[in-house]
Amino acid sequence: MAQVQTFLEQLYHEFKGITDGKLASYIPELARADPGWFGISIVTLDGRSFEVGDVAQKFTIQSISKVFVYGMALEDYGREKLLRKVGVEPTGDPFNSLIRLDEDSKRPDNPMVNAGAIATTGLITGSDPAERLNRMLSMFERYVGNEVFVDVSTFMSEKTTGHRNRAMAHLMLNFGMIEQPIEEALDLYFQQCAVLVTTHDLAVMAATLANQGVNPITGQRAVGSEHVRDILSVMYTCGMYNFAGEWAFRVGIPAKSGVSGGIMAVVPNQAGIAVFSPLLDGHGNSVRGLKVFEALSRFELGGFLRGHQLGL
Ligand code: GLU
Repeated sequence: MAQVQTFLEQLYHEFKGITDGKLASYIPELARADPGWFGISIVTLDGRSFEVGDVAQKFTIQSISKVFVYGMALEDYGREKLLRKVGVEPTGDPFNSLIRLDEDSKRPDNPMVNAGAIATTGLITGSDPAERLNRMLSMFERYVGNEVFVDVSTFMSEKTTGHRNRAMAHLMLNFGMIEQPIEEALDLYFQQCAVLVTTHDLAVMAATLANQGVNPITGQRAVGSEHVRDILSVMYTCGMYNFAGEWAFRVGIPAKSGVSGGIMAVVPNQAGIAVFSPLLDGHGNSVRGLKVFEALSRFELGGFLRGHQLGL
């Protein structure tokens, strides 16, 4: 629909000049991003794309990977068993907070904060690290519809500097929340965060979730439909760092963001939307990304975002 494409182009030009925010630099490799990168992509369930900007620029998926790995753990373990290991309670704390990890907490709060994500990744089944990584890459490939690769520089950059995540894993081990070997779980977690995607890929991945787990471009199932509701629920309540409540209020659809600057959102039964722009606000969300989604929810697309038919 020409109207949607025109609107995206307007948003792109309106927000392109915004230079507020900062590049993530605690993973040194992320600081090499071009602050000017900006892409917006919408992929509908009938396979159409509306796109503008740097939608083919590759970047590492970072925390957005947590959504898909959670889906994999749901498949590997089943809902109830997984729930005993990782909760579904939003924290209101930053994604890398250690505050709520103490002797009294039986499990990390939710799979979208780092502690919960590391615990979730540690549950992925496979006979050795290579098999677990290959299973994970195959899972991502079903969502994307193409081969995916781990960016080795970003992986090494985080592996050698990720002391806080390593400390979290040790604390959880000490409290009996996760089991050895934690270095393998951390490696796999750093690898999942370093998977390379484009804005277009993320929109297709989101559209797959919008389509009950079937990739709308390839027709391949990426995750069992019985797990999609649970995935979307944790995205909705915990997906936008300690901005999740405000996001629900302002935009109102399940989404997940990552520190490399991506935001991916799902409009159930209609479309996947992704925005990429690496300058982040204090919560770790893309500044231009938030602007785009707020504008989309105000536009007549507001109906579209909240699940009503726009006639796309
Ligand atoms: N790999 C990053 C970390 O664990 C992901 C953080 C994010 O994107 O929120 O710190």
